[in-house]
Amino acid sequence: MPSYRAAQVLDWLYARRVSGWEGMTNLPRELRDRLNSHFSIHTLALLKKQGANDTTQKFLWRLADGALIESVLIPANPALYGDASDRHTLCVSTQVGCAYGCKFCASGLEGWKRNLTPNEIVEQVLATERWHAAQNPAATDRLVNNLVIMGMGEPLANYDNLLRALEILNAPWGGAIGARKITISTSGLAPQIRRLADETFQFRLAISLHGATDDVRNRIMPVNRKFPLAQLTEACKYYQKQKGRMITLEYILIAGVNDALSQVKPLGRLASLLHAKVNLIPYNRVEGLPWERPSEQSQDEFFRALNAEGVTSTLRREKGHDIDAACGQLRLKTEREMASV
Ligand code: SAH
Ligand code: SF4
Repeated sequence: MPSYRAAQVLDWLYARRVSGWEGMTNLPRELRDRLNSHFSIHTLALLKKQGANDTTQKFLWRLADGALIESVLIPANPALYGDASDRHTLCVSTQVGCAYGCKFCASGLEGWKRNLTPNEIVEQVLATERWHAAQNPAATDRLVNNLVIMGMGEPLANYDNLLRALEILNAPWGGAIGARKITISTSGLAPQIRRLADETFQFRLAISLHGATDDVRNRIMPVNRKFPLAQLTEACKYYQKQKGRMITLEYILIAGVNDALSQVKPLGRLASLLHAKVNLIPYNRVEGLPWERPSEQSQDEFFRALNAEGVTSTLRREKGHDIDAACGQLRLKTEREMASV
């Protein structure tokens, strides 16, 4: 085929987001038939959507093998990871379940099932945009211009598939989302952070810290026994040296676990050492788990004390608390409902 056919196919797939070969109307019929008999386009089936339009919306997708994953669409918001012009952020999943078993997290509660393939990661963006285009036939702009890899799963444990997907989502012929608008969140896989530092992409990095000492972190994140804070810190420093950009430390505030004011100094020290910014996030309750968010007053106290240490931080009274927006919750609930039926 002449090479311009490839450009046409990419345009249909990524810019116009058609879901089948039939819709590629400027390809000759014979070519469409040939493509159709050799390749299939697997789209995600929307099983459930929670949240009203123009607020945080959560999508529960069914994959071809029946597994369930989530993506969350977050509308225009003051910058958390990027600059103020961010319009829509999509939070995508990278695995079915998660093997890391953080004690507070719904995604890991029923273990790890499998890695998502590159197309299943890319499709979360395309399927969300298709859904949006169906609701807003007049809209011509692309919807998602900011990505956070913070859905279900540990992205750096599915390294190759994630990188392949992000390469496609970043490419001008693909998703056209700037690398600086893509934030990868990890629970702290130190060797993979170093590997990511050596890639050419300028992705942003967020670390799910949630504890500023090994003592606290060991209690809630088993991964810390494998890669304790000293090792994680060195990997983050390396990332920063290679990329020259600010890392974000995520710190969920959990009542009685990591919200004591005694944690502020070690957290501040770590943030200063890494020149990192801290996002404080009040814990989202997960059904069946005993953890609670601290009162707003304790949250404010922790936040003020951290600011007093000279650390750039935000206290994110997050959107989506009411729609099971913490990663993995909607899937867990739905799977349990389906099992009981
Ligand atoms: N596995 C990766 C990315 C997915 S988790 C990681 O751990 O970084 C995305 C973020 O949601 C992580 O910071 C995670 O710790 C946080 N999280 C998980 N459960 C939560 C809950 N119930 N309330 C608030 N944040 C939660
Ligand atoms: Fe996995 Fe991240 Fe949840 Fe930990 S917080 S169980 S690494 S998804």
